[in-house]
Amino acid sequence: MQQKSHPIATEDNVARYQLASFHFGMPGQGRKAYIQASLHADEVPAMLVAHCLRRELERLDGAGKVRGEVILVPAANPIGLSQVIHGAPFGRFDLASGVNFNRAYKHVADDLKESLHGKLGADPAVNARLVREHALRSVAAWLPKNATEELKKILLGMAIDADVMLDLHCDNEAVLHLYTGTPLAGDVEPLAALLGAHAVLLATESGGEPFDEACSRVWWQLAEHFGARHPIPMGCIGVTVELRGENDVRYDLAEKDAHALLQYLARLGILDIAHDPLPPPLCAPTPLEGVEPLHAPQSGVLVFLKNLGDRVASGEVVAEIVNPVSGKTAQVKAGQTGILFASTAHRHLLKGMHVCKIAGSDGYRTGNLLTA
Ligand SMILES: [Zn+2]
Repeated sequence: MQQKSHPIATEDNVARYQLASFHFGMPGQGRKAYIQASLHADEVPAMLVAHCLRRELERLDGAGKVRGEVILVPAANPIGLSQVIHGAPFGRFDLASGVNFNRAYKHVADDLKESLHGKLGADPAVNARLVREHALRSVAAWLPKNATEELKKILLGMAIDADVMLDLHCDNEAVLHLYTGTPLAGDVEPLAALLGAHAVLLATESGGEPFDEACSRVWWQLAEHFGARHPIPMGCIGVTVELRGENDVRYDLAEKDAHALLQYLARLGILDIAHDPLPPPLCAPTPLEGVEPLHAPQSGVLVFLKNLGDRVASGEVVAEIVNPVSGKTAQVKAGQTGILFASTAHRHLLKGMHVCKIAGSDGYRTGNLLTA
């Protein structure tokens, strides 16, 4: 195991940060996995899962059981972790720019359409190697305009050539769910089953350039661009793993999640450990276009009538908003039939604020599919 330290914001007169990464196995030998935790710094469950992963990976590496390469970044956002406002951690948006830490990653496909022109052949494995080389070069050429972009460049530079990239997050309150690319649905099925995911949300392009798509979407975009004469495989399984809600920080959950992630790496041939039998999946993948966000129809106290993980029918009342002064109660109804998989952690809402999300099986939304 090798630990690396990456300095960020190194000017003399400002606070600087250190990003730490842990490297297991041997680069260039076998497949590469990249796992990062808590890119949104106030999403804490992921860091405890990373703590368990690190212990197990050290043990496996010592026993010679890491066949490929694994990079683990156990706290992916030192800038966000340092943002505390009047006692409240604030890790979703960069305070300096207002930009979401999981948006605006360099999408290297445009560079690669040019740089790979005339260089690809008929062998998908050779083409994949070229894509990785050129993608690394494209990230290296990214000129960060501020400290947060420096952080993004360092993270993407470690992940862009991985065969599998697992970005560990959580929602406000939620059951475990995954976001991934539509072309990767089959590859992600075992991961969803191992983790016990209640929803797997698919998109070919979510909008906003999140980290997982910076790693994975380049592959299907280039495959489409270069066509059948120059075949390009789906070279990176990029997944955003939402480890329940912000306060679901428990040793038993973290150990279980870490075990499931290691089992997935074993199934990909990256770790030499015995495979558990695959549990039956809890859900079938559904389109991200089918996720319905519900909003508060009035201000007041939010009371849920349904539980996270429940299947709700179109027209069913999911929650009520009670205005304690007027006494008026408003119903929040599902427009889609699907799984209630995530909700706000607040219990007093202003009119229009986010209440919860339902994973419906039919796509109906277009445009930018992720919340801010
Ligand atoms: Zn997040």
